Amino acid sequence: MSRRTSRPHGSVPAAGAPGRITQESPCPCGLPATYGACCGRLHAGAAAAPTCEALMRSRYTAFVVRDAGHLLRTWHPDTRPPSVDFDPALRWKGLDILDTTEGSAFHATGTVTFRAHFTDDGRADSLHEQSRFVRHQGAWVYATAVFVD
Ligand SMILES: [Zn+2]
Repeated sequence: MSRRTSRPHGSVPAAGAPGRITQESPCPCGLPATYGACCGRLHAGAAAAPTCEALMRSRYTAFVVRDAGHLLRTWHPDTRPPSVDFDPALRWKGLDILDTTEGSAFHATGTVTFRAHFTDDGRADSLHEQSRFVRHQGAWVYATAVFVD
């Protein structure tokens, strides 16, 4: 997921939006675990994503909690932007993993097809993307979007 949004200056940041998720919150990625036991472990650097799907989930959750550092650390250096901007009008509402190819401990590449639901200024929308991941220095990193609807 590479969604980077930028708005003209003047949009109003929503108060306290990133602070809603705690270690005990249900993980935004949708797995039946707390944030602290799921994507939060990857964000904290306490664990590395064993599969592309796990990395995809942690990157989605990083958009929810606005963890730019995790997004940049898990972005291939060839495609990584200099920074990540979070659109204050966007609210991520859920992630559906639709398909995966390869991307296990035994692979060097993999893809994850997903739909990420969000609201933009209160209007419901979704992002449908197939992301491609590769191993870089032993760790899974996001490389490119194969397609984006
Ligand atoms: Zn999670």
